[in-house]
Amino acid sequence: MATFEEARSAILGRVAALGSEVVPALDAVGRVVAADVVSWRDQPAWDNSAMDGYAVRAADTAHLSELRLAGYIPAGTSETQAVAPGTAAKILTGAPMPAGADAVVPVEEAEEREGRVVLQRPVVAGAHVRHKGEDVRAGEPLLRAGMVTGPAELAALAGHGLLSVRVVRRPRVAILSTGDELLEPGEPLSHGKIWNSNAIALAGAVKLLGGVPSVLEIARDEREPMRRLISEGLRADVLLTSAGVSMGDRDLVRGVLEELGVEQVFWKVEMKPGHPTAFAMHGRTPVFSLPGNPVSAMVAFEQLVRPALLKMMGHRKVLRPVTKAVLQHEVRRKPGRVQFLRVRLERLPDGTLAAGSAGRQDTWYLTTSLHSDGLAIIPADQGAIPRGAVVDVEVTRPGFELL
Ligand code: AMP
Ligand code: MG
Repeated sequence: MATFEEARSAILGRVAALGSEVVPALDAVGRVVAADVVSWRDQPAWDNSAMDGYAVRAADTAHLSELRLAGYIPAGTSETQAVAPGTAAKILTGAPMPAGADAVVPVEEAEEREGRVVLQRPVVAGAHVRHKGEDVRAGEPLLRAGMVTGPAELAALAGHGLLSVRVVRRPRVAILSTGDELLEPGEPLSHGKIWNSNAIALAGAVKLLGGVPSVLEIARDEREPMRRLISEGLRADVLLTSAGVSMGDRDLVRGVLEELGVEQVFWKVEMKPGHPTAFAMHGRTPVFSLPGNPVSAMVAFEQLVRPALLKMMGHRKVLRPVTKAVLQHEVRRKPGRVQFLRVRLERLPDGTLAAGSAGRQDTWYLTTSLHSDGLAIIPADQGAIPRGAVVDVEVTRPGFELL
């Protein structure tokens, strides 16, 4: 038996970032950069205009309020004519600065009159010019290993003409549901049977994180088929099993894992839900044996599997941020296990965050999960909690923003 903290550190101490692969830039989105990308050229590559306006010699504008208009430089121009003293060239945003000019007068601050530009005021050298190398210099790091690739990283790559990037591999996660009562959704149901809901829920959770789920066929509560399917699952980067790890006489998962030479790290965690969870290593492959109850399986995934998968994908922040919320109801409990309560979150008009129970907390009440935005975490040594107490919460609903 492990405390919740022991269990999580035992897991995180055993898993490591997977190897890396080079992928097309767009496929890297959401994934972790595996090696520094160094800029191979200055960005911008040449001085260019930051405004639509007139390229001028700043020194001229100190004593001349009118310049002769000579030249037109739209964006994309490669050949430019030098700006001679006393003249200006019309220039558009992003176009290369012509030789001789060192500043841009924005169109808003000038007026064209019969081949001349009338300026409202002088400009200083460098005004409205984007200088070569000002954003990034050649040889400077563009992306650093460990960064998560988002739109800005893709833009930086494309801005340097780079089509691909090296990122940490995605884990292939085998998902094995066990139990004689299970049928696949779509199969006709008979009395006593239920449709397998854990497999798709776990697969969805893996996919949401950026892993690659692979759902195996259901294993019956018999040694031989279970052995065959677990062996198959052990070929993935991670194996998740559900059910068959409690105290029932048909709970065969741990026994079969042991026969297959898997090293058990812990069985049972002082957490609620998720108590019967077991964790083992098969070489470098972590094996999570999750409870069968759908809510227990999801909470154990959220609290124990999720951080491990994120670490394997190269993420440095693997735990969700914890915020404080005011509990809207009383919680009756005895100290002993860390408890995760499924809560609805709401920002009250005075700015405090309120956490109200999302419904009955028994682990087979799936509708409570449908109504919950996050988990309130009640520490192991905590007894009953009165309404109005401040508790730690983690937001788990995808897309839910703490407004
Ligand atoms: P067990 O861990 O085998 O004792 O299962 C605990 C509870 O979870 C039982 O009510 C099972 O029917 C249920 N259960 C087990 N596996 C699944 C599954 N894949 N989908 C939905 N419910 C399940
Ligand atoms: Mg069972």
